[in-house]
Amino acid sequence: MKFNTQLLHGVPVLDAPGATLPPIYQASAFAHESAEKLEAVFANRAPGFAYTRIGNPTVSAFEKRIAALEGAVDAVSCASGMAAITAALLCVLQSGDEIIAGSGLFGGTLDLLHDLERFGITTRFVETVTAQSVRAQTNEHTKVIFAELIGNPKLDVVDIAAVAAVANEKGLVFIVDSTTATPALVQPLRLGAHIVVHSSSKYINGSGDAISGVIADGAKIAWDFEKFPALAAYKKYGKLAYSVRLRQDLWRNFGACLAPQNAYLNILGLETLGLRMERLCQNAAQLAAYLETRDELADVNYPALPRSGYAALTKTQFVGGQGGAILTLRAGSKARAFALLDALKYAKIATNIGDVRTLAIHPASTIYLHATPAAQTAAGVYDDSLRISVGIEDIEDLITDFAQAISSMKNEQ
Ligand SMILES: *Cc1c(COP(=O)(O)O)cnc(C)c1O
Repeated sequence: MKFNTQLLHGVPVLDAPGATLPPIYQASAFAHESAEKLEAVFANRAPGFAYTRIGNPTVSAFEKRIAALEGAVDAVSCASGMAAITAALLCVLQSGDEIIAGSGLFGGTLDLLHDLERFGITTRFVETVTAQSVRAQTNEHTKVIFAELIGNPKLDVVDIAAVAAVANEKGLVFIVDSTTATPALVQPLRLGAHIVVHSSSKYINGSGDAISGVIADGAKIAWDFEKFPALAAYKKYGKLAYSVRLRQDLWRNFGACLAPQNAYLNILGLETLGLRMERLCQNAAQLAAYLETRDELADVNYPALPRSGYAALTKTQFVGGQGGAILTLRAGSKARAFALLDALKYAKIATNIGDVRTLAIHPASTIYLHATPAAQTAAGVYDDSLRISVGIEDIEDLITDFAQAISSMKNEQ
């Protein structure tokens, strides 16, 4: 099956005969005919569901779809992308461990990495995650490499195969946040990444109607249980130790589970992921090319633009050479950036990405508000920067709208 066919037919609905979509099991608990049966379910000796925080058929249907798309042995869904990133990291880390991460990360992730410092888990930030930068920062405490495939908002692209090679050589876990790329553009586990996380609130959901996250494990690591004592109790599961600990221990005890209703909305969105990404990426490429021609703007940043430093990697790593659907630009000053934002008719001023409608934001005053000036600069966030999450509107309308909004900047300094 090719990608779009798989989205519709990859995982059949078995528990509701004839239903084209999985039902929403809106129940907290699942009763069993005997105490013996419930005991068996609890002990993972029999299939079945007990309690929705631990498992739910609708949630499971969503997880199976993600696992199939990513080529994972298991996918575990969470209440949010941040919950997914937190659980993905804490499943292998403990006090004294170090993470290597890029500096152009999603603002919430940057804040989380700083939160973890109080628990003795520190992060070494590199300008961009490359084989060289990882090699240079690795020491005996390093356990995890964390990278966003297309950094949000920096839009730097990570060479998955190259970084995975260093991760394997040094015995590190390579965790990739693939939110902005999606499985439509790349399936990182197939290129050597070990764990994939998504904020499925974004492109996977697609309509901006539910917050959620998901962790997918490729089970490719032959775990060194001395180096990763957090997994030692799961030694008998071998390469599955990460997934099993996550599901049976850390994630369920953390309690940030996905609601069945939201799992259903994600399943619905996922069916059109391929179609949406095609249109979104096309629109983003055309809008970026147009904005680049406007002298009123500077530094139009989009990975598939021919003059981008990531153009070559974008072409080889992502399906169809597509560059995702986010672009950034600089308007000359905060006042000019605000004037442009306020004048846009179609772009909603909102802190989200991956919606079918175009969304725009001034990162420095919002999603990067908590970052230090140095961290802002490292992420490519300036006082005059705007981030556009391009939607599926007709491109002619988007270009006309940006053109009139650009003229409204002229009275601002
Ligand atoms: C939005 C986002 C997150 C956080 O996800 P939530 O669902 O908002 O918790 C993490 N990483 C990236 C790249 C994001 O865009």
